[in-house]
Amino acid sequence: MVEDMKGKIRVFCRIRPMNRSEAAQGGATVVAKLDDYSINVATPRGSREFQFDRVFSAEATQEDLFHDTNRLIQSVIDGYNVCIFAYGQTGSGKTFTMVGDKDQKNPGLMPRSFNTIFNVLQENSPKFYFKVSAYMLELYNDRLQDLLVSQGGEAQAQTHLHGQAKRVEIKRNRKGVVFAQGAETKQASSAQELYALFQQACANRHISATKMNVESSRSHLIVGIMVESRNLTNGNVCTGKLSLVDLAGSERAAKTGAKDHQLKEANSINKSLSALGDVISALSAELPHVPYRNSKLTQVMQDSLGGNAKTLMIVNISPSECNLDETITSLIYATRVKAITNNAQRNVESKEIAQLKEVIMKLKSGQTVDEGDV
Ligand code: ADP
Ligand code: MG
Repeated sequence: MVEDMKGKIRVFCRIRPMNRSEAAQGGATVVAKLDDYSINVATPRGSREFQFDRVFSAEATQEDLFHDTNRLIQSVIDGYNVCIFAYGQTGSGKTFTMVGDKDQKNPGLMPRSFNTIFNVLQENSPKFYFKVSAYMLELYNDRLQDLLVSQGGEAQAQTHLHGQAKRVEIKRNRKGVVFAQGAETKQASSAQELYALFQQACANRHISATKMNVESSRSHLIVGIMVESRNLTNGNVCTGKLSLVDLAGSERAAKTGAKDHQLKEANSINKSLSALGDVISALSAELPHVPYRNSKLTQVMQDSLGGNAKTLMIVNISPSECNLDETITSLIYATRVKAITNNAQRNVESKEIAQLKEVIMKLKSGQTVDEGDV
């Protein structure tokens, strides 16, 4: 059974508060929220207005933001693929929005969504059987690293022993849903367990980013949460996926995009973000060919951009005059994303299909199957 839901990608805009260094530079505030759906940016050449599905001012709390994404997260449990990603220059508030502040006094979308998933599952627990699992990846310089596999200690010894770490590859299933082949997928039975996995992933991320502080703003964090639910009354099985992406800082990509081809090649560190820009341009212009294959990032996000997912982009911006150029670039980029149409399909399988799949799985792993299974 497939339920189609054609829809535009939704785009929220969040303005962060002015920070100390901006205030010290004497930068004026150039961004103003006009109403819940529009902002005004004062530029030297006059003011520009931008419209979004929702605008959050510097005063907006993490709760305010989460309030408007809650329903989207719930639809994962109904069998939809959902992607939420944060875009913006370094320091614009992407990690604050997605993860929260360092001491988690103001948790962001990721930890809040873990709670929502398990709260909804709890409410439905008498009627459904649920399985929640997750993979967590970091993409740096077009290399995927599995954050659920520790880089130190035993795992590293193992890796050295066998020469190469297990390769993670991005694949798509028949319904076009992206999955990370070779990535460690761990099950979680509570929001706390899922959060513990996430903390483990963040710790692993830190190790790889010790060389240079800026590296963390040049890598993308990708969290995939799969929710499988079996209706105990009719046996139907729903499978939904929630992708949460904290993108690398967009500033260099923006500059690259403005320049010629050579610069783009030299600037391989930002290859993935410029590839994302190319995909967004192709989709918003409805070109017949969309260059998803040009980077790992666009492969990871293939189902979320122009594909089978309900997608929300959060564009994070600074309010200050000193970041005006990057802010305008981000807002133009986000405006293009708004024009992209996705076709979200609910993934539901009948009891019979789900049983057959189980039989095939058993056979593949060399187990015997008795007649009762078929
Ligand atoms: P990015 O991930 O885009 O590089 P961060 O999320 O790390 O940016 O934000 C930079 C700094 O600004 C951090 O210290 C963060 O806590 C703070 N910050 C960002 N957004 C907000 C906000 N809405 N309210 C309060 N502080 C914020
Ligand atoms: Mg960040």
